Amino acid sequence: MITITLNCRHCASENLVRHGRTANGKQRYLCRDCQRSSRENPEPNGYTPAAREQILRAYEERSSLRGLERTFQVSRKTVSVWIKKSMPHSQR
Ligand SMILES: [Zn+2]
Repeated sequence: MITITLNCRHCASENLVRHGRTANGKQRYLCRDCQRSSRENPEPNGYTPAAREQILRAYEERSSLRGLERTFQVSRKTVSVWIKKSMPHSQR
């Protein structure tokens, strides 16, 4: 059983099904709710420095990875890697 933890980028539904691949080999998903297709995380580690900074700043304010995940559609894992890199003195 494959668990898809993606959300539709159009309606934020989690009701996605695999729907072939994009030209560059990424998994494509079709949303069952709005019938539009979404691509897999376009660049898992390809956030722009600005986006990354914005997310890290939001983390400092709220300290909630779960919240970040919802707001920015970024995986907790990715953020925790950034946090480790950007806060060497972190106590966690
Ligand atoms: Zn949708």
